[in-house]
Amino acid sequence: MSAPVVIVGSGLAGYNLAREWRKLDNSTPLLLLSADDGRSYSKPMLSTGFGKNKQADELSMAEAGAMAVQLNAEIRTHSRVTAIEPQHNCLWVGEERIVYRDLVLALGAEAVRLTPAGDDSAELFTVNDLHDYGRFRQAVAGKQRVLLLGAGLIGCEFANDLLLGGYQVDVVAPSMQVMPDLLPPPAAAAVQAGLASLGARFHLGRLLSSVRQAGAGYVAQLFDGTEVSCDVLLAAAGLRPRTELAQAAGLAVNRGIVVDRQLRSSQAHIYAVGDCAEVAGLNLLYVMPLMAGARALAQTLAGNPTAVKYGPMPVTVKTPVCPVVVSPVPAGMQGDWTVEGSGADIKALCHDGQGALLGYALTGAAVQERLALNKALPALLA
Ligand SMILES: Cc1cc2nc3c(=O)[nH]c(=O)nc-3n(C[C@H](O)[C@H](O)[C@H](O)COP(=O)(O)OP(=O)(O)OC[C@H]3O[C@@H](n4cnc5c(N)ncnc54)[C@H](O)[C@@H]3O)c2cc1C
Repeated sequence: MSAPVVIVGSGLAGYNLAREWRKLDNSTPLLLLSADDGRSYSKPMLSTGFGKNKQADELSMAEAGAMAVQLNAEIRTHSRVTAIEPQHNCLWVGEERIVYRDLVLALGAEAVRLTPAGDDSAELFTVNDLHDYGRFRQAVAGKQRVLLLGAGLIGCEFANDLLLGGYQVDVVAPSMQVMPDLLPPPAAAAVQAGLASLGARFHLGRLLSSVRQAGAGYVAQLFDGTEVSCDVLLAAAGLRPRTELAQAAGLAVNRGIVVDRQLRSSQAHIYAVGDCAEVAGLNLLYVMPLMAGARALAQTLAGNPTAVKYGPMPVTVKTPVCPVVVSPVPAGMQGDWTVEGSGADIKALCHDGQGALLGYALTGAAVQERLALNKALPALLA
């Protein structure tokens, strides 16, 4: 039998690529290797699960076995790839050697871990996959107070979701506003006010120093001396593309695994897609870019080399108390912001010197204008 196309990773990138490729080629052997249990799920649902009162199992859309049938593929779960030998077109899962025709790395991104000083028994949970979500749900069951570290996009989504789920939430973050990398201050203030209206308490401009046990819960001490009592700690301190495996195999890596617009790495027959990939200089940790990448790469793997195109990539932030849609200004472009509106309804637009729209941030009722604005945005990869 001919060597299979091997996809490493069973997240949205791995499964979407397999699905797109199977539309074009249903006969070449396909092997999916995944370090996790291979369940198919939509990762964005992880930050709306408490409001919807969903257990981890309820977020799973299909088991690995069902996916294998659907994709006419062999899927091996709990199989962590430990090394790649590009010069021999093979990889290793522990002691086992597997030869590939083409290899696609869809390894995702890792949650940044924080390690405060203090009590060893205090776990700082992160929620970056279905398994994490199940563990965290178990940890907060019957508890009330969550200390959330991080006020970025995902931190704000978790805060809103936990508040909807009936928890008390304290948010600690080093920035002076929420979503500092995405929102101009008036839009950030609208989101913060929305979350505060649900009961969130913010400790911005501060960092966690140490955690100590106190009764059945914990006391977290911040560097300015503030003490916050909590039952569970959740960190949302950012994501880092998984590049170690590629780097050890000699592939070019930067923030992500470096690939060109055909998703080709620096080594022949090895590609990368999804959160782990840096495509023509862009490492975008969202669903829309990975879907575009999966469609283009499927064509390339089917013998029709295709460059990925990215249109504008606006991001919807799942903070229903204050809806947000943001289209960040593309890297390397610069413009001036103008802000209209007040309270929850902010329309912030960024234009270049010629008056062309580069990006926007909309909150509250202003999100209705997104479709009209999207038409004026520049494509990220034309
Ligand atoms: C809480 C949360 C909410 C989000 N909400 C949104 C949203 O609303 N909209 C949006 O656009 N994006 C959102 N995102 C981002 C989006 O979910 C991700 O961009 C996307 O799911 C990434 O998919 P992926 O397949 O690249 O990575 P992952 O889903 O992380 O999959 C990586 C896979 O690789 C496997 N793997 C890793 N290393 C190995 C190895 N060595 N060997 C074998 N297998 C390995 C893992 O087991 C896993 O199966 C959210 C992210 C989070 C965390």
